[in-house]
Amino acid sequence: MSDSKKFLLNENDIPTAWYNIIPDMRVKPRPMINPVTHEPLTEEDLHPLFTREASKQEMNTTDTWIEIPEQVRDLYKIWRPTPLVRARGLEKALDTPAHIYFKNESVSPVGSHKLNSAIPQAYYAKMEGVTNLTTETGAGQWGAALSMATKMMGLNLAVYMVKVSYHQKPYRRSIMQTYGAEVVASPSMSTKAGRKIITDHPNHQGSLGTAISEAVELAMSTPNCKYALGSVLNHVSLHQTIIGLEAEKQMEMAGEYPDTVIGCFGGGSNFSGIVFPFMRHNLTGDSHIRFIAAEPSSCPKLTRGVMQYDFGDEAGYTPMIPMLTLGHDFTPANIHAGGLRYHGAGSIVSQLKADGMMDAVDIPQLETFEAATLFARAEGLIPAPESAHAIAAAIREAKKAKEAGEKRVILFNLSGHGLIDMTAYDRYLSGDLTNYELTDEEVKASTDSLEKII
Ligand SMILES: *Cc1c(COP(=O)(O)O)cnc(C)c1O
Repeated sequence: MSDSKKFLLNENDIPTAWYNIIPDMRVKPRPMINPVTHEPLTEEDLHPLFTREASKQEMNTTDTWIEIPEQVRDLYKIWRPTPLVRARGLEKALDTPAHIYFKNESVSPVGSHKLNSAIPQAYYAKMEGVTNLTTETGAGQWGAALSMATKMMGLNLAVYMVKVSYHQKPYRRSIMQTYGAEVVASPSMSTKAGRKIITDHPNHQGSLGTAISEAVELAMSTPNCKYALGSVLNHVSLHQTIIGLEAEKQMEMAGEYPDTVIGCFGGGSNFSGIVFPFMRHNLTGDSHIRFIAAEPSSCPKLTRGVMQYDFGDEAGYTPMIPMLTLGHDFTPANIHAGGLRYHGAGSIVSQLKADGMMDAVDIPQLETFEAATLFARAEGLIPAPESAHAIAAAIREAKKAKEAGEKRVILFNLSGHGLIDMTAYDRYLSGDLTNYELTDEEVKASTDSLEKII
């Protein structure tokens, strides 16, 4: 075991292939289906919306390793490999016998893991002669990442940003505009979907669902324009596996192996990224690592949602995805972890959860900010409110280790930093933040309206 603080790889250690978990899964996720016919979708069905390569990767259930293009690896070198850090300060603050490690994805130029998928998606668009991309963004992290990636590939980008975040996080908007993207607050009057939402709910604050509806509509109605999604889908999780693949090598350098791996959970991309490369050893029976997804109590799709086919968006434009969901009509409370305000989980993670391959915990807002401030004071890094959910879950585990007097090895993903989220910290520090308790009636109301397909 090493006494180093952090574990660093070289540029030529950047993995040359992403890991596709589907071939290793005992029970494969159900296919996406057409909302009208309920027929499984084919790769060709995705072509009007996504690039051909993203469509192909989305449907790939046979190849375990997917090569990372050379130009993508070159751009990854701007900030990758990211450090693996031993959180000795946090261990000390908690007085725990557990060893806590985190993978620091906050070192990317835009401050989060989102760039890991933005770069390949923009690259495939460029290779296929696409000139424009559209997307949605919640907290602004995905929009910022795709803005940078499209600029580097010489593409245009229009971003629909969830209205509440557009106002709460003006600097994320400036970041996107600095890279040259066009940013629109959603719901907006510029699309049919947006106009319908505003007509039905004039004060709608937006959600990832409303923004996706608008971005999809623009992509479908504009020539040479494709849509790119930053979470939920299989190809996005695939690109994020670079996180766990690097982390595995770095844990080896540290001379330890995690018994618990934790990620915060919005649609599942950073969780899949840190977890899947480790989970492959559980699937082959070589390890018994515990995996924990940490979601907000106000948006608990994994702990309280139902397994059902649901739309990826609010207006019902997307194909239907088999997911653990709170229902596409669910409007989460206006918590500060904007990136976790999404109604459903990706189909792979939903299946893994249903099969008992992983656990999930839901964490109240105040506990996440307590964890975030403790982490900032102990480790010096101010985490994104989203990432603070993973920190809070890691702290719960470290406290259990202390109670049991067990030497545990806990690894979590620090998906992003919080330096552009200081409004949220201000509110926490001035005592303005509250927990949002969802009642069973609220969960039932939004899940009962789902069509019963499964
Ligand atoms: C977007 C985001 C998340 C949530 O998205 P996932 O797809 O669940 O990873 C978490 N943390 C940060 C910093 C984000 O930007």
